[in-house]
Amino acid sequence: MNKTLLEKPVTTNGMSNVELKKIFQKNAIIEYLYHLGPTSNPDIAKLTKMSSPTITKLLQELIDLGIIKDMGIGESIGGRKPNLYGINPNARYIIGIDIDCRMVKLGVFNLDNEAVSEIITYFGNVKDKNEMFSDLFRRLDEILAKANLDKSLFLGIGVSIPGLINSKTGQTYMDVRINGKSIVELFEEHYQLPTIIDSDSRVMAIGEQAFGFAKNKKDVLCLNICDGVGLGMILNGIVYRGKSGLAGEFGHINVVKDGNLCTCGKYGCLETVASGGAIIEQAQQGIKKGQESLIKELVNGDLEEIHVADVIEAVNKGDLFAIEIINKLGNFLGEALASLVHIFNPEMIIVGGKVALAEDYLINPIQNTLNKYTISHIKKDTEVVTSLLQEKVKLLGSVAMVMNQVFDEDFEDMKFL
Ligand SMILES: [Zn+2]
Repeated sequence: MNKTLLEKPVTTNGMSNVELKKIFQKNAIIEYLYHLGPTSNPDIAKLTKMSSPTITKLLQELIDLGIIKDMGIGESIGGRKPNLYGINPNARYIIGIDIDCRMVKLGVFNLDNEAVSEIITYFGNVKDKNEMFSDLFRRLDEILAKANLDKSLFLGIGVSIPGLINSKTGQTYMDVRINGKSIVELFEEHYQLPTIIDSDSRVMAIGEQAFGFAKNKKDVLCLNICDGVGLGMILNGIVYRGKSGLAGEFGHINVVKDGNLCTCGKYGCLETVASGGAIIEQAQQGIKKGQESLIKELVNGDLEEIHVADVIEAVNKGDLFAIEIINKLGNFLGEALASLVHIFNPEMIIVGGKVALAEDYLINPIQNTLNKYTISHIKKDTEVVTSLLQEKVKLLGSVAMVMNQVFDEDFEDMKFL
């Protein structure tokens, strides 16, 4: 039984312990069906350790609430064919938001993780946070109005955002406090819905764990190479956060003695040589020195307009200068990752973020450098891949983050019932 339930006083919100227990049991059934898909009454009984008659009664109540559907007769594995029960995908909705270094993606999803609204992607005005959030609210308001969904069926909002985030308190260590309010407070006030935020690299790990290559794996490192470099760590099946929710600042380990100034104020961080920002700088400097490259043509000679996407496009078209930039970045990452492989012995390293769209041009130098610097017995366990979900991972991860919270018994604000 739920330990928090046992610790509660006799009544909560006017409900007796019997009623609370029933809600807990129903939430447990919903959780199993959400994760497992259509399941029979005897199987639910086995999983939840409740009696079959109790399950029958609770299932009927959940069907009456429109949360569970009777899916009809399933396949038999010997004996009578069982009746299956599954989640009604449109019983609840989740708002997912992925705020990237420049791009913002958002939309509404159902319990099958399918979009039930338009999904939009646009350039956010990251320089003016006030403007960025009012623009975001205006666009999300429009989407919600068009989708015309029952407001009472929304479970919450998940927000992925770059930077240092204390996911436990919702505090951000960026200049994002508007009129004295945190991002969580802004969303909760505007939408009257519980909101959860986390750093983009951890949301990537949550997305990979729910839908990508990290599914059913226990020890996976997710590298997010965007303008900076972040690390989402799945350790022993759990997304690791550290004491203050600030773990994974891989981009700020020192790799170059007396190196360039980093955005964090220190010198020589990994991010200064191996990030989206670093490759743009290298492309600009090389071309200024007379280096011929397709990158220059892609931006019509305006070097200030070089974005990561231009470098990647040049790489994928075989531009030698662009390939060399990515190759160097891969070598730096491989060296830094070798330390992590020795420490964590991961079964997989997933490389994501917009730089990962260089695919093998990035993975091969990472692999080669890992082979060079890692003890082979440890290295042989570790597969290095690019993300299956690529640019969708953080939006889907923000939805998965809400669902993880809904089923977390220590968290009370986001609940089915
Ligand atoms: Zn730094």
